[in-house]
Amino acid sequence: MRKLEKYQKKRNFKITKEPKGKVTKNSKKLKFVVQHHLARKDHYDFRLEHKGVLLSFAVPKGPSYNYQDKRLAIMVEDHPLSYRNFEGIIPKGEYGAGVVMLWDRGTYEANNNFTKGLKEGMLKFTLKGERLKGKWALVQIKDNNWLLIKEKDDVKGYKNIKRLNTSIKTGRTMTEIKRDEK
Ligand code: MN
Repeated sequence: MRKLEKYQKKRNFKITKEPKGKVTKNSKKLKFVVQHHLARKDHYDFRLEHKGVLLSFAVPKGPSYNYQDKRLAIMVEDHPLSYRNFEGIIPKGEYGAGVVMLWDRGTYEANNNFTKGLKEGMLKFTLKGERLKGKWALVQIKDNNWLLIKEKDDVKGYKNIKRLNTSIKTGRTMTEIKRDEK
C-alpha cells in the first residue's frame, strides 16, 4: 500500500475543496486522469492509478502524440483516487492555488509490472481515454524527473493538444471554471 501523508500534509481541507481522500482498493479497470492546472506555472497533471492511489506527474508542456516529443514529467506526491473527479478552484495561499480542469480521463492497461517499473524507472501502458489513447511510456531520467513519451502504434492522435481547451466533464474553459467557482 502506498500512503497519502504527503498529499494531506500539504493541504488545509477546511479551505480547499480538493478531496482529503484515502488509500482505496484498486479499481477493476485501472483509472487515469489528466488535469490541466493553471497555477503559478501552467501545467498538466498526469495521474495513473496504482496500489490504491494515483501516481502523479506534473507535465509542464502537457502530453504530445508526436513520439519524438519527450515531455518532462515531474513526479509529485501520490494523490487519492477520488482526485480524478476534482475540477474547480484551489484558493489563494493554498498549495497549488489556481484553476483545475478535468482534461481527460479513462482507464489504462499496464504493459509492464509497475511495482518493478517504479524501481527501475520505466512504466509502459495503454491509455483508453477520451483524448489520450494508445501506447505511452514514462521513463525516469533522474530522481523525480521522468519523460512522458508516446510509443508507436496505429492511433491517430491530435497534432496540438493545446487546442483542446475545454473540460471533458463540463465542457467549460478555464475562464468559465474560474467565473463559476468563485
Ligand atoms: Mn498540479
